[in-house]
Amino acid sequence: MLPTKAYAAPAANIPLEPFQFERREVGPHDVQIEILFCGVCHSDLHQVRDEWGGSIFPMVPGHEIVGRVVKVGEHVRLFKPGDLAGVGCMVDSCRTCPSCREGLEQYCEVGFVGTYNGRELKSGAPTYGGYSNHIVVAEAFTLRVPDTLPLAGVAPLLCAGITTFSPLRQWKVGEGHRVGVMGLGGLGHMAVKLAVAMGAEVTVLSTSPNKEADAKALGAHKFVVTRDAEQLKRVNNYFDFIINTVSAPLDMSLYVNLLRRDGTMILLGVPPEAPQLHAFNLIAKRRRIAGSLIGGIEETQEMLDFCARHNIVSDVEVIPINYINEAYERMLKSDVKYRFVIDMATL
Ligand code: NAP
Ligand code: ZN
Ligand code: ZN
Repeated sequence: MLPTKAYAAPAANIPLEPFQFERREVGPHDVQIEILFCGVCHSDLHQVRDEWGGSIFPMVPGHEIVGRVVKVGEHVRLFKPGDLAGVGCMVDSCRTCPSCREGLEQYCEVGFVGTYNGRELKSGAPTYGGYSNHIVVAEAFTLRVPDTLPLAGVAPLLCAGITTFSPLRQWKVGEGHRVGVMGLGGLGHMAVKLAVAMGAEVTVLSTSPNKEADAKALGAHKFVVTRDAEQLKRVNNYFDFIINTVSAPLDMSLYVNLLRRDGTMILLGVPPEAPQLHAFNLIAKRRRIAGSLIGGIEETQEMLDFCARHNIVSDVEVIPINYINEAYERMLKSDVKYRFVIDMATL
């Protein structure tokens, strides 16, 4: 077994603290990665506070992992020691159901194995994530990381990047589309960069007036303060798509009305409570509400290659690991520009 250093939440709502555990030895199909950077996703916070239910403790969060390969199993073909590698939200799935065979492991009919707060398929052992010094992952769930991009900014691509890339691709968003991005946080700022790169007209829909200059610098064409009724009225019936990344409960009717006829709101954010919506808000303009969960492994690789071609990374604030509890508090106040990334050398 491999002794591992980490930070963990001992139980719900208790601050994270140093933690030690053992990872499995590198199997014939496994890659061992020394973790260099790990992004901090709002899902980490939802889960350490058990806001979705069923959290497993102690919990080592972290599913935006980049690092360097230090060891590979004898059957590993695509990686060798010294290579850069990444791990996102999944470390395994059944690999045989129709979704897995279509490269949509995130919709695995048996349920994918989360990088943390999950259980390994055979042993049932809990999985521990990237707030740690190394990880052992099946080659099939390991991503190749381009060496042309700054590494700390690549880490958030493994969740925030793929989670926004996947629906933009699924709905074929591009030139001629008006896209609204609700919430300028980790997911939101990636949605802006990616949708702009795909040729769409992008408007940020934000509760934070002080983010306007940043939104424009990220490439957004327009900025709307959603707490200002006048500004909101100007974009009524306007958008073809709204990417909703908001992590807190909100008045859905208000935002659905911003969609034009046949427009689609794609839900990415997972507030603890279910939203309310009157049917008329959809019926009156044949509007749709859709959802999307991260992205498959093949699509994640496609996204990383797309970002390398377009020189896209996340805008990050690099933090030491002992700042993590404060980072969570700032995240709750929407005070993140635009993703915290832990420098794992500080562990
Ligand atoms: P984040 O960095 O904290 O960003 C969320 C943003 O939502 C905030 O920056 C803020 O933007 C806005 N917001 C916060 N509270 C709000 C409120 N009360 N009313 C309106 N807007 C509010 O979070 P994230 O990491 O991007 O994650 C966002 C959500 O997506 C989380 O719920 C997370 O669990 C979920 N998620 C889903 C998937 C998936 O596969 N579907 C994957 C990853 C994460 P403004 O300041 O601009 O208003
Ligand atoms: Zn995430
Ligand atoms: Zn499956």
